[in-house]
Amino acid sequence: MNAPSVLSLDSEKSEKQSLINLFSGIEKRIGEILSRALNGQELEESDAIALFNTEGDELDALVATADYLRQKATGNEASFVITRNINFTNVCYMGCKFCGFAKRKDDAQAELLDLEEIANRAEEAWHKGATEVCIQGGLHPDIKGSHYRDILKAIKKRVPEIHIHAFSPFEIWFGALKSKVSVAEFIQDLIDHGLGSMPGTAAEILDVEIRKQLTKDKLTTEQWVEIITTAHELGLPTTATIMYGHIDEPKHWAAHLNTIRKIQKQTGGFTEFVPLGFVHYESPLYINTPNVRPGPTAEENIRMHAVSRLMLNGWIDNIQASWVKLGPEYAQQMLRSGANDLGGTLMNESISRAAGGKHGQEIVPKDMIRMISAAGRDPVRRNTLYGVVERFDDYAASGVTSESQSGFQLIATSGVFA
Ligand code: SF4
Repeated sequence: MNAPSVLSLDSEKSEKQSLINLFSGIEKRIGEILSRALNGQELEESDAIALFNTEGDELDALVATADYLRQKATGNEASFVITRNINFTNVCYMGCKFCGFAKRKDDAQAELLDLEEIANRAEEAWHKGATEVCIQGGLHPDIKGSHYRDILKAIKKRVPEIHIHAFSPFEIWFGALKSKVSVAEFIQDLIDHGLGSMPGTAAEILDVEIRKQLTKDKLTTEQWVEIITTAHELGLPTTATIMYGHIDEPKHWAAHLNTIRKIQKQTGGFTEFVPLGFVHYESPLYINTPNVRPGPTAEENIRMHAVSRLMLNGWIDNIQASWVKLGPEYAQQMLRSGANDLGGTLMNESISRAAGGKHGQEIVPKDMIRMISAAGRDPVRRNTLYGVVERFDDYAASGVTSESQSGFQLIATSGVFA
């Protein structure tokens, strides 16, 4: 998608000048960092750490800069995608401490969908307007490595046109291990059977010490980077994520963003960056560990989206505000703080709700359009890879609902494991 900036040269100059004037009235170091960002210079990790600590006028200036760079990168449009999340199993023995989703095999709520049911759900989604299914699951000890391929085959046989966005780097690691093949061979086989893109989830925080505490380092930072890089080198795009607001600090966020930027420079394979605030309700990490924070504060959410825009400027155009993690009002606010996308309107998302997330409520796509319009942006329905599916030019004026808003009930979520 990535429409060019709609700013005329004159208004762009005047907006830039207003920002430069704004910088002259704030703390010198922050003003200097923001000036560099405004001029398209790359920010360092130390710059990002300083920005993550801004408050008051400095924070306002950060947000205004992020909004300006967002406008230059993607224009006035803000997008969403109609997709269905299919969590094919919640059985997992990896024991990630933040995860309130995983069940043991003999738990009453344990679930393993058969291939027929997965295909049924994909077909139902397609008939209701979805262009994508997002498939992720726990690492069920009994499934074979070939199960991942079988899922793709079952969906493609039933709905050949649908885009399959599936399998986190953790699942890729697990499937390759079970299949006794290399990661590259495993991913290539999935591509050959219809995998269209991969969620860059399971990133959490790409820091050795933090990951040890979150996931016992079962999928290390190096392995995550290797799997993502391999996917990109094989031509498979992925998203990138961060899960923040638990035992982490600004220095970890800055390093994480730098790692994501380095990968993008090398491969160009990321389609978007998705900040995911930690959902603490019912999360074992929060319940059982002292000094774990209950997710990010409202200002931390704003800073994360804004700093992501600045750090990734010129490399990753799409910054997504995860509606289900943030709730509608904050998600709307993120569209004015550097984000240009609201993610998916989904059915059947269960991860955030399993961890007690509050915002898994049902919505219809027109609510997404309304939210975007209320933020002063032009709503666009996109596909997975940010191609335009539908514009809603006269929506704000007429209130007319289009076919894609036809009233089926959806659950909006970030659609990803954290
Ligand atoms: S986050 Fe994923 S890999 Fe970790 S325990 Fe939960 S389902 Fe398993």
